[in-house]
Amino acid sequence: MDLVILNSGQLTEATLELEPHLQTFAPQQREDVWPLRMTPHPFGPHHRMEPPSLKHHQKARPCVIPSFFTRASEFLNNLDLENLQVVPLLKYHLTPWNSHGLKFLNPFKTFDKANTAPIVYQQLFADHRDLYHNFIPVFTDGSRSSSSTSFACVFIDSTLSFQLHSSCSIFTAEITAILHALYQISNSPPDNYIIYSDSFSALESMTSLHRFSHPLTFNILELHDRLACRGFSVLLCWVPSHVGISGNENADNLAKSATDSINCPVPLSDIKKYVKIKLHSNWQSQWNLKEAKKLHSIKHLITCWPSLPNRKLDAVLTRLRTGHTRFTHRHLLLGEPAPLCTACQCQMTVPHILIECRQFNNQRIRCFHSSCITLRDILHKDHHPQLFTFLRMIGFYSLI
Ligand SMILES: [Zn+2]
Repeated sequence: MDLVILNSGQLTEATLELEPHLQTFAPQQREDVWPLRMTPHPFGPHHRMEPPSLKHHQKARPCVIPSFFTRASEFLNNLDLENLQVVPLLKYHLTPWNSHGLKFLNPFKTFDKANTAPIVYQQLFADHRDLYHNFIPVFTDGSRSSSSTSFACVFIDSTLSFQLHSSCSIFTAEITAILHALYQISNSPPDNYIIYSDSFSALESMTSLHRFSHPLTFNILELHDRLACRGFSVLLCWVPSHVGISGNENADNLAKSATDSINCPVPLSDIKKYVKIKLHSNWQSQWNLKEAKKLHSIKHLITCWPSLPNRKLDAVLTRLRTGHTRFTHRHLLLGEPAPLCTACQCQMTVPHILIECRQFNNQRIRCFHSSCITLRDILHKDHHPQLFTFLRMIGFYSLI
């Protein structure tokens, strides 16, 4: 599969190198290209690193775990990234001697949302509209659910609503809504307009732009400046959500029910976050199927557990959690029979020693205040404080 992405307005193909040349890419440009290098491409890194003989081998023996590159390729194929466009960074050149940004109106700034009745907000908004009656109102809103991200714009005599790529954040949806409102305004004759958004963070992010600002805010600033040159007067204003301001309610409902898709460029930060979340979810799903694994009974979620400051204790704890110790497994290396518990006439395993073997019941009661415990009780994220005392008491510590 070919994957071509739009990078700063130019077509960029994934190239052979795993990492780009430093001398040919500025830092921000390298950042544009790098994550998509891993996407499947006939000349991409996974094809170069994976000889055809290995592919044949994997096909012939499905029981063999596929190589990292095969698995990465399959994973990326399922992410719907083929036609994704990345928002070019720093399209709008910032000059250090000027401040850049767009101020917004906030007629509700002295009111606390938790302690203000909706009717008060509605009256305040009506008063505000009286003041700005010669500005044409446009309402925008973004929406994010577990399955989709969308936005909507409500004009006096028309509306528009679209679904964005699943990787877009709610913040991107809010910014995209404002940008599309400006696009729509630019097709109308010059007049006074006021764009209402309920996203305080989106409006605030545009008050002072810097090199780490959301990339679409530069497009908004650029378009706003162009409209001003053409005789438009466009203001931005914050409105509280879900207080009965009809234009905002309409935009909210339209955004939630949007069904048409639009292929808008997505910021790189959103794509990175999306891939990370999908990768984590994919990993968790695979781990959920590994119930037979010793570690699975102790650790259900693939979160990061802290390591112990003492290296020796940390190694002992990890070996117990994975169920592999020198005492219980060295027979495999030496070609000897497995060690047996003489008291119970069964094989010595980590679970048997820690929680089952009846000859250590007294020590369990002394350390854990119970002879009936589970592996999770003593080996979970924050291990039992008496675990190492117990191991030394039964003489197992030095054999791990
Ligand atoms: Zn036993």
